[in-house]
Amino acid sequence: MPDLSPLDVLRTTFGYDEFRGDQAQVIDHVIAGGDAIVLMPTGGGKSLCYQIPAMVRTGVGVVISPLIALMHDQVSALESLGVRAGFLNSTQSYDEQRATEQRALNGELDLLYLAPERLDLPRTREFFDRLAISLFAIDEAHCVSQWGHDFRPEYLKLSVLGERWPGVPRIALTATATTATRHEIAERLGLQQARTFVASFDRPNISYRIETKQQPLKQLISLIRAEHVGDAGIVYCLSRKSVEATAAALVREGIEALPYHAGLPGPVRSANQSRFLRDDGVVMVATIAFGMGIDKPDVRFVAHLDLPRSIEGYYQETGRAGRDGLPATAWMAYGMADIVQQRQLIEGSDGDSAHKRLLGQHLDAMLGLCETLRCRRQLMLEYFGEASEPCGNCDTCLDPPTPWDGTVATQKLLSTVVRLKRERNQRFGAGQLIDILLGRRTPRVEQWHHDQLSTFGIGTELTDLQWRAMVRQLLAAGLLGVSADGHQTLEPTQASWAVLRGQRSVALRHDAITRAGAAKKRKD
Ligand code: ADP
Ligand code: ZN
Repeated sequence: MPDLSPLDVLRTTFGYDEFRGDQAQVIDHVIAGGDAIVLMPTGGGKSLCYQIPAMVRTGVGVVISPLIALMHDQVSALESLGVRAGFLNSTQSYDEQRATEQRALNGELDLLYLAPERLDLPRTREFFDRLAISLFAIDEAHCVSQWGHDFRPEYLKLSVLGERWPGVPRIALTATATTATRHEIAERLGLQQARTFVASFDRPNISYRIETKQQPLKQLISLIRAEHVGDAGIVYCLSRKSVEATAAALVREGIEALPYHAGLPGPVRSANQSRFLRDDGVVMVATIAFGMGIDKPDVRFVAHLDLPRSIEGYYQETGRAGRDGLPATAWMAYGMADIVQQRQLIEGSDGDSAHKRLLGQHLDAMLGLCETLRCRRQLMLEYFGEASEPCGNCDTCLDPPTPWDGTVATQKLLSTVVRLKRERNQRFGAGQLIDILLGRRTPRVEQWHHDQLSTFGIGTELTDLQWRAMVRQLLAAGLLGVSADGHQTLEPTQASWAVLRGQRSVALRHDAITRAGAAKKRKD
């Protein structure tokens, strides 16, 4: 349909009035034959950026997507709009694949979706050699990043597209925003000359809240009861076991919840996914295996019961809330054990020390977001290279935490840790340290004669909870370390010494601050 303008296609085929953000510029650029890298938040409207050029240009637009499970739905949705689309993947029979190839060769398709691993097949390459291709779209392009959370080795081979079919324009799309990822995409896909389009990553309708983990399940249930009764939501957990336990617990509370993780049988997974997409008000409890490519506009909350590994991951996962632009909540419960666990996971992971260092930096940035005294949204956007004002809609804006000078208290804690190590070659976890500081003569304190330490009972100015909050913040800031002994025992770090010597002060935040308080303020 060479006579139709992109705007005509938008209106007649997709039924929308106007382009959003960068869409029009991206589309014009690709129609003119240019390469593009498009960074747009989830829900920003990336699909139209390649679908419309594929319909306007002559030939088939080939879409590389890792989301095999969604291809069928994506293609059916396009077909229902009258777009000529097809897909090729391993779920099809040989005959089905042949038929789709033939339709493409006959010029009966505008869009053809396929998984990246198919490009390895000589058969696919020869098929492409015979095909009139209007463009290559590389969806979820951040999967090429080896340091990212969604790395797919097959993506590295996509450089073949530019090498073997150099005349075909390529458009790489992702919702991952960091400059590092952007450079990696350009380099690994041979897109150094491509024009880059970066949309704002702000999601103003999402209210970000991070609270201290005490009884996470109870906290989650009270969040749902107070603010999200009958709403669709996603609850992320780290392990399959906690996914199942959490889903079961929610069901017992009368909340319609379903589990989703890679260990469930395929049919159960897809049945749960369809129910979540189709029915109103289903809560999906899932590992991060769930969510990429899911287009459900009315997800009203995303909850994290475990700490994400990076701000990128957190942003992606929370970004699945409120795609319809209406108010939505991104809520997380986070505590000391999360830090210990993540640090231990990094320590025990494969990969060289450079890789571990990088994972450590990602985690530190995430922890900085958890412990900040500043606006969470502003900090997050800053991380993506975007300047903004405090949002007035996150917990730290609505209910600002009180800063306090924790230098002296930190010195007391650290000197206890150091004394135990130096004088007795012992290491203990937070519980025992706090008992010592509070001067509690527990059986364990007496057993180890810790009441004879000079720091015994010198910390009564703080409560147990306040000491715990402090240990967590010191761990997050790297002023206290987790020992490599596999137990959750604590030890000083390099940075601890500056505090002990009085060369460095420690600014901490008083943990606020109940969620109920934050919610109440918002309504006022
Ligand atoms: P992304 O892939 O960036 O997450 P999608 O391409 O799935 O986002 O688009 C998100 C939603 O916004 C879809 O429901 C889509 O139909 C809708 N959308 C995209 N562009 C427009 C537009 N110009 N006007 C109105 N709605 C749009
Ligand atoms: Zn804010």
